Amino acid sequence: MFCLCVGSYSDGDAIKVYVRVRPLTQGTGLTTDGDRNLCLTVTSPHTVRLHSKPEPRTFTYDHVADMDTSQESVFSSVAKNIVESCMNGYNGTIFAYGQTGSGKTFTMLGPNELNDFSDELRGVIPRSFEYLFFLINREVERSAGAKSFLCKCSFIEIYNEQIFDLLDSASASLFLREDIKKGVFVEGAVEKYAASAAEAYQVLSMGWRNRRVASTSMNRESSRSHAVFTMTLESKETGQEVVNIRTSQLNLVDLAGSERQRDTHAEGSRLKEASSINRSLMCLGQVIMALVDVSNGKTRHICYRDSKLTFLLRDSLGGNAKTYIIANVHPGSKCFGETLSTLQFAQRAKLIKNKAMINEDTQGNVKQLQAEVKKLKEQLASALSVPPSDAELPYKTRFLHAVQLWKKREDEKKALQEKVSRLEEAWAQKEKFIQSNRMILKFRDDRIAQLKRELETGQQSEPQRKDQILIEQLLQEIRLLREQVEHHPRMMWYAAENYSLKEEVRALQALESVKSAQEAVSQSAAELENAFQELMQTEEAAEASGVSMERLKAQLLQKQSELSSTIQAFDEYKQLCCLFSRKQLLELESEKRYLEKSNEHLEKILEATKAHTKQEVSQLNKIHAETIKILTTPTKAYNLRSRLVPLSSPEHLNGHSGEHDLEDIYAEQPPPEMSEVACEALTEELKQMQVLTVRRRLIVTIITDFSSERCSLLEEQQKLQEKISALEKQLTEEKTAADVLRSEVSDLRLVLQSSDRELEAVRKELEERRTEQEKESTHLSSSLISTQLQLDKVRLKDQEQEAVLQVSWDGGIEEKRRRCVNGRRGSGRSCERSCCTCLQEVEVLRKQVDHLAEENGKLLGHQNHKQKIEYMVRLKKEIIKLQEENEKLRHKSTS
Ligand code: ADP
Ligand code: MG
Repeated sequence: MFCLCVGSYSDGDAIKVYVRVRPLTQGTGLTTDGDRNLCLTVTSPHTVRLHSKPEPRTFTYDHVADMDTSQESVFSSVAKNIVESCMNGYNGTIFAYGQTGSGKTFTMLGPNELNDFSDELRGVIPRSFEYLFFLINREVERSAGAKSFLCKCSFIEIYNEQIFDLLDSASASLFLREDIKKGVFVEGAVEKYAASAAEAYQVLSMGWRNRRVASTSMNRESSRSHAVFTMTLESKETGQEVVNIRTSQLNLVDLAGSERQRDTHAEGSRLKEASSINRSLMCLGQVIMALVDVSNGKTRHICYRDSKLTFLLRDSLGGNAKTYIIANVHPGSKCFGETLSTLQFAQRAKLIKNKAMINEDTQGNVKQLQAEVKKLKEQLASALSVPPSDAELPYKTRFLHAVQLWKKREDEKKALQEKVSRLEEAWAQKEKFIQSNRMILKFRDDRIAQLKRELETGQQSEPQRKDQILIEQLLQEIRLLREQVEHHPRMMWYAAENYSLKEEVRALQALESVKSAQEAVSQSAAELENAFQELMQTEEAAEASGVSMERLKAQLLQKQSELSSTIQAFDEYKQLCCLFSRKQLLELESEKRYLEKSNEHLEKILEATKAHTKQEVSQLNKIHAETIKILTTPTKAYNLRSRLVPLSSPEHLNGHSGEHDLEDIYAEQPPPEMSEVACEALTEELKQMQVLTVRRRLIVTIITDFSSERCSLLEEQQKLQEKISALEKQLTEEKTAADVLRSEVSDLRLVLQSSDRELEAVRKELEERRTEQEKESTHLSSSLISTQLQLDKVRLKDQEQEAVLQVSWDGGIEEKRRRCVNGRRGSGRSCERSCCTCLQEVEVLRKQVDHLAEENGKLLGHQNHKQKIEYMVRLKKEIIKLQEENEKLRHKSTS
């Protein structure tokens, strides 16, 4: 056997304080009766203003309940959560503190004369029983038997620093013991097991009665004693060889009056008592003060052991428990002092922090536990490794997902609501059924009472008349039973429907497609459940701190900021682009201008060069012509020649007389000086020519260079122009893109806003539905509790009556037999027969009653719809059988 103690701390364990202001009515036993002045006003559900002088003082608590607060509301605010925590393995304690007459006992138990626990004025303790057993039943049903609970009750009284067992009035005073596992406990205190709220009531009323008796016979004034009712709850959960055991304690404490000594007018032994009582309360005050210091970080010794009360409830004060203090105050102005001290006490207590943890034991095989640990670790690892896929989805799709899920959930909810209404209907039918059963029981009771009366008086009405009455009653009963059967067509219908549905389901389940569909459905259900759980988690988180909305809002804000930053960046980029392109444009334009200028300049130079070349060419041509002239007119030679050549002689003109001379001239060698001069001139001319050609060539190359440069410049200019136009185009495109983006942004914003609004509406609707459902469920649970209670009571009454009847019945039967024998002697055989038949009938009817009661109990015990129907069917069959038997009996009796 492996035993592991699992302790998990939970936060928010500060002692909570509920202040209850009792109504200002007379007959409270307080000296304030008749005084209508108030010393306080409840200003809000959390604050109360005390009319102190010179300045009024405001106190703040977890809850402040005004005079008109109902017992139910006190229970819901104070005990509901604590009882729920107890179910989960936490210890819980509820104290009622306040002066005598302020309503402590009223709050915890109910009015003093309370005997009936269905009374609306019943207090926190009986209501806690009801709720606890309601939760237990629900858990058992939910776990399908895997969980079981055991509840023990003890009720003690601390009076004059002595502990008395209220469940055993004969016992002497008891002592406190300490155990590592159990903590502090009362040694030898009777612990009664309770399986239902009704049984717990019995324990409570027994203890209460004993308390009253002790207050009169033992002179123990109940207002001076502390009454502690303790419920120990043990839950056992079995699953795969591992047994989980949780234990928790619920302490419900009605403290002694907190009034100061001088107000009690005590003397002698009473004074001693009062001082002891005050010791317990004083010690409680000191423990609370010390605990407040400890909560503030100081190291203090806490004197739990100084009084029985504080030692017993050590865990409830700064320890392992969830604690609620109900501070009862009287609003009368004459109670000002006590009210102030109660409010101050409550204020101090509010500062204490407890450390409540689950008291859990896990038992099981080591391998199993190790496997469990491994599995959990794997689960954790896989959960951690899985990327948050949902978060990666875009906001819109996630929102749509959520809406779809929401719709599905709505449908599911509707189906559930329908189911609930159907169940309610069935419930009403069952109520009717119970009612008729009750009627039958009442008949039986009447008859039994009648028989009893006859037995007591010793008289016997005429046998014939008696038979008649009996037959009449039986007939009435039969009618009722018939009605029962006839008034339950639903029962038959259910049975038939159930049968046909079963058949249908079987046939459908056999289909392959259904199987695959079922698989798919279960898969999708698992997925949906996951999604739902995630949604619930997010919702819970949102409920806890409005995270989901905030997350969405934060995302929205983030997106908006991203968008704005993008827009900003884009604007900057655009500006830069503009600047850059403008700059480039300007540069290009200036370059262009420069190039144009240089072009013009070059053109001018070209023109000038052309003009110059032309001039030079013409000059050169001139020179050339002159040179040729000079060359062709050898003036020097002519001068040097001895003969004269008649240039215009007729022979010369005719060409034959002078031919000879010309030939001579041509053949004539020029004079050497002339050739020298000519040579010089020619060389000079050649030189000039060479220079000119070089220059020309240079000019040509310059011109070609210039023209090519110009061409390239032009090309460049063209390219630049193209670039500029492209840039301009780009700019316009970007502008349009920005416009589109801006419009998209605004669209997105609108969508986001609308989705926000939708989300808000959906959330509101959800909350409304949830509150409605909660209301419904509380209503249902309360009706369930009350019905269970009634049933328990009926059962208990039945048991008691049965016990009483059994005795009287046996005696009655004996008496009857005796009389029968006597009658046989006296009034003959017919009377004897009828009497015997009567007795037989009565016997049969009694059995019927028992059987019906049993069946009814079973029926009520069965929450399962199917089982109910089966029982109803069986019941019907038996009723028919009984009817037949009755018929036969009647025939016999008539014959
Ligand atoms: P305590 O236990 O503090 O001495 P009780 O509970 O006995 O006071 O209350 C004294 C009387 O006042 C009782 O008769 C009780 O029924 C009545 N009482 C106390 N509180 C209320 C209340 N809230 N509403 C109606 N009656 C009350
Ligand atoms: Mg009291």
